[in-house]
Amino acid sequence: MTKRLTIAIYDFTDCEGCEVVLSTLKENLLALEDRFDIVNWRLAQDACKDGPYDVTIIEGTPVTGDEIALLKELREKSGAIVALGACASIAGIPGIMDKGEREKWYKKIYGPEYKPIGVDSLPLAAYVRVEHMIHGCPVNAGELVRTIEELASGKKPKYRDYSVCFDCKEAGNTCRLLNDKICFGPITQGGCKAVCISGGSPCYGCFGLREDANIDGLVRILRWASSPKEIRGHLKIFFNHIPEYKDAFESALKRGRTKRP
Ligand code: SF4
Ligand code: SF4
Ligand code: SF4
Repeated sequence: MTKRLTIAIYDFTDCEGCEVVLSTLKENLLALEDRFDIVNWRLAQDACKDGPYDVTIIEGTPVTGDEIALLKELREKSGAIVALGACASIAGIPGIMDKGEREKWYKKIYGPEYKPIGVDSLPLAAYVRVEHMIHGCPVNAGELVRTIEELASGKKPKYRDYSVCFDCKEAGNTCRLLNDKICFGPITQGGCKAVCISGGSPCYGCFGLREDANIDGLVRILRWASSPKEIRGHLKIFFNHIPEYKDAFESALKRGRTKRP
C-alpha cells in the first residue's frame, strides 16, 4: 500500500482567497482522502500537528521577521514546499509596492512615531527552496485539484506548457492585441481559462511567466500602441519583485517605439 502523504497548509500575509478556493474543493479532496492526510490547517481544522510534513502548501508572502523565521522552520520540517497562489509564487498584490517604499508608507499612514515591523513582500523562493508553484490570483480550482492529485500520487507536478492565449482562443475571445489593447497573455502560463479577457480585462500575468516566454516579441507588439509607462504599470501588478522579468522588459523597452508591419 502506498504511504499516505502528510500535508500541512500555512498562510502568511495575503487575502486568503486561494485558501477559500481550496476549501471549496471538498468533494474532490474527499475522493483523494485515502492518499493523504491534512495534518495542519489553521483556517479549516482545530487539531494541528507540528510536523514533519511530506508537503507544506503555503499561501501568502512573509512580511515580518516572525513570518520569515516560520517559513525557514517549515522548510526544515517539509519534504516539499508548494507555493499557493500569486502572493507566495511571485509576491503578487502585496508586492505592488516598490522596494523600500513600505517604510515611507507606514510612517505616512500610522505617523512618524510608528516603528514598522514589515519588510518588502517577496516570493517564498527569495528565502527558501520551493519545489512547486500553483499560480493564480486566486488559484484556479481545476489546477489546484490536478496538482494535489499529482502530489498524492507521488509525482512531481507539471507546469502547463502553453500560454493564456491558448485558453483565450478556446474561450472564443477576440485578441486584444488586434485592437491595440495591452495584454500579457502570450508570455503567461496557461491554465486560468482566460477569465480576465473573457470578462473584458487584460491578462496581467498572475499565472507567472511561461517557460519559453518571448518578452522581447511581446514588447515589440505592445510598443505599436502602448507607452513604456503603460507597459511598466501593467508589469508592476504581478511582476514587481521578480528582477529577471523586469530586466527582460527594460531591455526590450530600450528599443523604443515599433511600427506595425
Ligand atoms: S494570490 Fe490573490 S487570491 Fe491568493 S491570497 Fe494572494 S491576493 Fe489573495
Ligand atoms: S487577448 Fe491576450 S490572451 Fe487573448 S489571444 Fe490576445 S494576447 Fe492572448
Ligand atoms: S487572464 Fe492573466 S491575469 Fe487573468 S487569471 Fe489568467 S493569468 Fe491571471
